[in-house]
Amino acid sequence: MKILVGGQPREVRVLFSEEQIHNRIVEIAAEINSCPTPDQSALVVLVVLHGALLFAADLVRHIAMPTEIESVRIRSYHGTQSTGKIELLSQLPARLKGRHVLVVEDIIDSGRSIAFLRNELNSLGVASMRVAALLDKPEAHEETIQADFVGFKIGRNFVIGYGLDLDGHYRNLPYVAEVLGS
Ligand code: 5GP
Ligand code: MG
Repeated sequence: MKILVGGQPREVRVLFSEEQIHNRIVEIAAEINSCPTPDQSALVVLVVLHGALLFAADLVRHIAMPTEIESVRIRSYHGTQSTGKIELLSQLPARLKGRHVLVVEDIIDSGRSIAFLRNELNSLGVASMRVAALLDKPEAHEETIQADFVGFKIGRNFVIGYGLDLDGHYRNLPYVAEVLGS
């Protein structure tokens, strides 16, 4: 498949099929289920919108402990380039205070979004924060952060699909694909 990036046609290649993603999500959920909250309180899944929408929706169906769902909107990308600046587009729910929070992200790139959220959640006074990311680009990290649960490690190429967008498009693709040469 070819798509237009900044007016230029670019080749796109499927990295992870719908089935591969599903199978990995079942495995990640099993890992999460093996670490219950220390006080048996409900886990609060904090979905980082919009990218993690599909991943979170599929993941929570396999989480076996009592679970609540909250969301936050942040933005750092324009086109295929990170702006380096994180914007909080919605307020963090105040009711996260004192709760065990599982941040669900689509992808970790520079790590700035997660570092930013960690600061914000600490200021809010959460009891604990763990991170589940469908994808991780270890070579691109600029912050020393580590996700507790990672679906797949990938290289530096820009990826789309399964929630991940290119300027708002392609989130609905059921697979993850990389934009070659990005
Ligand atoms: P970070 O703050 O770690 O640099 O970037 C994290 C955010 O940037 C992700 O939540 C995601 O929204 C966006 N992002 C990073 N890499 C990619 C990518 O390859 N494709 C898409 N569509 N978004 C990405
Ligand atoms: Mg994101």
